Amino acid sequence: MGGVDTPAVVITQRGAERILSGHLWIYRTDVAEASGVEPGVVVRLVDRRKRFWGQALYSDKSQIALRLLTREKRPFNRAFLAERIQAAAAFRAQVAKGAYAYRLVASEGDLLPSLIIDRYADCFVVQTLSQGMERLKPAVVEILQEQFQPRSILERNDVAVRALEGLPEQKGFLAGEAVQEVVAEENGVKFCFDLLGGQKTGGFLDQRENRAAARLYARGRALDCFTYTGGFALTLAPHCESVVGVDTSAEALALARRNQELNGFTNVEWKEANCFDYLKAADQEKRRFDVVVLDPPAFARQKSSLESALRGYKELNLRALKILNAGGVLVTCSCSFHVSEADLLEVIASAALDARRTVTVVERRTQSRDHPILLTVPETHYLKCLILRAL
Ligand code: SAH
Repeated sequence: MGGVDTPAVVITQRGAERILSGHLWIYRTDVAEASGVEPGVVVRLVDRRKRFWGQALYSDKSQIALRLLTREKRPFNRAFLAERIQAAAAFRAQVAKGAYAYRLVASEGDLLPSLIIDRYADCFVVQTLSQGMERLKPAVVEILQEQFQPRSILERNDVAVRALEGLPEQKGFLAGEAVQEVVAEENGVKFCFDLLGGQKTGGFLDQRENRAAARLYARGRALDCFTYTGGFALTLAPHCESVVGVDTSAEALALARRNQELNGFTNVEWKEANCFDYLKAADQEKRRFDVVVLDPPAFARQKSSLESALRGYKELNLRALKILNAGGVLVTCSCSFHVSEADLLEVIASAALDARRTVTVVERRTQSRDHPILLTVPETHYLKCLILRAL
């Protein structure tokens, strides 16, 4: 880790400007000199005139060559890392108070770029998504043990972005007991999280507050598209006559069914289907709903797919608006960073006109507060959640 012998990487003027602009990433093209620097180490950033700019994690593979850790000169050592994790936890004690499953460390949002730590009750799931964080993984595990005495620590490093760092995809237990499933309550509803086999680290924690927000509008017949393990569906269920949850994943629906049983709800049914097809058929069969939730996977993973993503969002929202009863509520989400809130509002406005519906914007929301948005790193604001009412 960082210390007196911390190696130096020389950055260009444009690299320094990235730091001045408040971003944490410096691209490889803005590295002037890094010869002999070991992959994944903490480095000092200096410009050609030897001026100090901060300390960063160095990658010899990724286009993101440097991830800024601090602008301070103080060595970025284990104590520094432990402080950052503790600060992140202290913030969660405020904004995720009473939650059992939440994001303890959110990468850039907690000034720990490429480190994600999700907490599910007394189990912790870690993702180390750069060479630098991979090197710090043993220290992270020790710090978690010291600060939280967890029952289990797992890694879910089975993610494709690791390839950009030359890191293998891997998952498994790092410390403690081999706990694969955890039952934790969210917004008063019990969910079983499959930490080793589920999507992401087991759950979509970024939607916790939006699921709670959606509950305010729950009534009558509800439809939860892209339900995964029943997140929105089961949060709405106690306040609705009936709920349908739709997903293409049979595995996810099997867990959704178990979650339903855990809570003893009898008014929910699950459909294994493509949501585009399901919505089309529902319209043709004249089925109508009072609440529709759309929480699709990211349609635009790259900027180049923005156009086709917008077409996808338009089609989904158009179909959803068509099957809403008068006064019905649409909870519509996009987790594509490349689709701005303005873009989403625009396609929905266009969908509303096509569907001949008058729509009001009831709430404009984003990811839960345990996924902080760093003001000067736009990439950290990825989730948009709009709550709309069709008159
Ligand atoms: N709403 C969920 C999270 C949804 S994640 C929650 O609150 O927890 C996105 C889900 O969409 C995944 O479960 C994935 O299996 C599903 N999915 C992806 N494409 C789909 C499609 N075309 N039709 C239905 N489900 C789809």
